[in-house]
Amino acid sequence: MHELGICDAILKTVDGIAKEEQLEVVNKITLEVGMLSGVVPHFLTDCWQAVIDGTPYQHTALELELINGLARCEDCGHEFSADLEKMYCPKCAGRRLTPLTGTDLTIKEIEAE
Ligand SMILES: [Zn+2]
Repeated sequence: MHELGICDAILKTVDGIAKEEQLEVVNKITLEVGMLSGVVPHFLTDCWQAVIDGTPYQHTALELELINGLARCEDCGHEFSADLEKMYCPKCAGRRLTPLTGTDLTIKEIEAE
């Protein structure tokens, strides 16, 4: 599953940062999830639980912040908030869209002691 690999990567990144910064306990990770990233937020939280089980991070919460996806229609130039369920232009129904924002996953904050 796609989300499992992502959680694994997040855990490795956080682990690297925690070691570098000598963080004892990581309480919470805030992750920005773009609506056009193709990631299903609740799969991500499910996978997170599976990935951290039995690791030093098993009490670390993963908080998601959903970021609106902005797309531009290549036919009429209209820019609008898009989601993966409705990938067409609301103005002209064009389907040649260029995603502008909301395609990334970013670790925004690590809360630690
Ligand atoms: Zn359009």
